[in-house]
Amino acid sequence: MTADTVDIAENIQHIRASIAVAAEKCARNANDIHLLAVSKTKPVSDILLAYKTGHRDFGENYVQESVEKIQALAQYSDIVWHFIGPLQSNKSKFVAEYFDWMHSVDRFKIAKRLSDQRGPYQAPLNICIQVNIDKEPNKAGVMPDELIELATQISSLPRIRLRGIMAIPKATNKLDEQRASFAHMQALFKQCQQQFSDFDTLSMGMSNDMNVAIEHGSTMVRVGTAIFGARTASVQNKVPQ
Ligand SMILES: *Cc1c(COP(=O)(O)O)cnc(C)c1O
Repeated sequence: MTADTVDIAENIQHIRASIAVAAEKCARNANDIHLLAVSKTKPVSDILLAYKTGHRDFGENYVQESVEKIQALAQYSDIVWHFIGPLQSNKSKFVAEYFDWMHSVDRFKIAKRLSDQRGPYQAPLNICIQVNIDKEPNKAGVMPDELIELATQISSLPRIRLRGIMAIPKATNKLDEQRASFAHMQALFKQCQQQFSDFDTLSMGMSNDMNVAIEHGSTMVRVGTAIFGARTASVQNKVPQ
């Protein structure tokens, strides 16, 4: 689908309204829930349509694709770029150089490289640790019981600002299972907030489970399909770089 069949501005307005409703249902302030527009596989022209509505935070998954888009949009210097995909350590310098946030750190080696490679004149890189909240065998993320140890190591890195945790719970349509995963994330988030300063981001909730995530304290929902339309299978299945 392209912008011809998907009204990006209208979709953003609709998602913002849904966030407001979900927030009100659980007596939260909608301003505490940030919307990250996930633009992976989508063209620069789609990002600009969202930008023109006032939207500034965009999420990308693939290093090469995202660097090309960031360079093409360099004049829009108030865009905040979030890397949310798997990252091989030999590509870390691109994330350190081009991004404002990195949501998918799951081992110290990557965090250390990002800290070492972050430019001296750039603000520290904002980081979330990805948690494999449902302990799925082939999923990225640190195991829940190893989170505190990793966070403690990462919090000492000079060019990194540890902001929170991120998860992609196991795919399920069962509401009670979704709730259990998000509630577990919320408990880990609260535990980390006691120990680490600057810890203000619980990155969870996507197009299909955004409302449940908000119920359980999400402060940043990452929404792709519901804003930009479906991604084509061939691009979606592209091997992450
Ligand atoms: C693609 C992606 C999203 C957005 O998913 P949708 O279902 O399209 O909203 C969110 N988070 C991560 C990590 C993703 O890779």
